[in-house]
Amino acid sequence: MDLIVQKFGGTSLQGEQSRHHVLRHIVRERTAGRSLVVVVSAMGRRGEPYATDSLLELVRVNGNALPARERDLLLSCGEIISAATLCSLLSAEGIPSVALSGGQAGIVTDARFGSARIVRIQTDTIRQHLREGRVVIVAGFQGATDRGEITTLGRGGSDTSATALGAALGASIVDIYTDVDGILTADPRWVPSARQLPVVSYEEISNMANNGAKVIHPRAVEIAMKAGVPVRVRSTFSDGEGTLVTRSETVREKGVWTDRTVTGLAHVSGVTQLAVYNDNGPSELQLRVFRAMATHGISVDFINVMPTGVHYTVPGADTDDAIRLLRELEFEPVVRRGCAKVSLIGGGMNGEPGVMAGIVEALTTAGISILQSADSNTTIWVLIAETDLAAALQALHSAFGLHLA
Ligand code: ADP
Ligand code: MG
Repeated sequence: MDLIVQKFGGTSLQGEQSRHHVLRHIVRERTAGRSLVVVVSAMGRRGEPYATDSLLELVRVNGNALPARERDLLLSCGEIISAATLCSLLSAEGIPSVALSGGQAGIVTDARFGSARIVRIQTDTIRQHLREGRVVIVAGFQGATDRGEITTLGRGGSDTSATALGAALGASIVDIYTDVDGILTADPRWVPSARQLPVVSYEEISNMANNGAKVIHPRAVEIAMKAGVPVRVRSTFSDGEGTLVTRSETVREKGVWTDRTVTGLAHVSGVTQLAVYNDNGPSELQLRVFRAMATHGISVDFINVMPTGVHYTVPGADTDDAIRLLRELEFEPVVRRGCAKVSLIGGGMNGEPGVMAGIVEALTTAGISILQSADSNTTIWVLIAETDLAAALQALHSAFGLHLA
């Protein structure tokens, strides 16, 4: 029997009206004769009673003095509440279902509380329920260790639960239902003219996700890609087909995409640029700087090494630590807070002349300075001031014709 995994995100589960849309998608697939595993996130966003951020708020008053193990116990509740609520809705409709925590569903993880990795999935419980005709509702974002300790997978973890279950169960598709129509050429919150992409390759969405497109978690894409499970990102609130994520060969067979220079834009804000110069000429400066960052777990990006020094970026939250470390090495960095990294992603940009020229022209015309840039075969990154972000995304989006159907 055809088995599919459906995943519903936070906004899809917030409020009765939204949950009726969820019900509609479940009923449609069940009526079509499919077996269903439904992965749910915690309801709503920050401020809503059972959202992950609201649960965290409960312990913030005590200065977050909650050990990692108990923090995971607390956080796991949000998804469990969603699962039970959805189970009651299905029961009311006469649809047999069962709600399972991640651990009960057989998702076994390592013991890294707060950012656990799935090590295997024991599918027998889920399969038994499916054989008995139930819709299996699984609390996303969580698992349990071999010893039964509850763990969580980190932000965006429900996407990972969904594709990992899809891979383990040999699902024909994993449908990620969310509050947008699919994967768009840019985040629609920043670029109102962003357009839906009908089909993308695992590589391209993985690249977009790794560069900040929060529409799907990068680890979820990686798992689906390894298993070759197709994924669809689609809207809870419509019947649109969404965006199909599949192998690049399949994408090509559909006649889309590969001739595109730029497929989409992604961005990360809250980045700090650091410049460190060495007046005494080239030395082991680079080595000392990056070794210090590495031993203190500060992730660096956008590294430009020059004979006279280095430029690089760190996450905004690590700025003060990075400055302190550099001063300990007797370097006085030039610090620029409030930067944003914009990524232009496209499988067809390799060897394509004029892409960088197009970027420079678009940004210069919009009066935006480029603080740094870097490129690979499939991506060009530019660092700009955060205050220029909306204008930069919109300028690049139209310069590369992404708003055109
Ligand atoms: P969910 O709670 O359903 O997991 P998320 O907030 O995690 O939803 O992801 C959906 C959001 O991702 C959208 O509301 C949109 O603002 C954002 N997003 C960022 N980049 C893109 C993109 N390229 N295409 C579509 N949505 C994007
Ligand atoms: Mg999400």
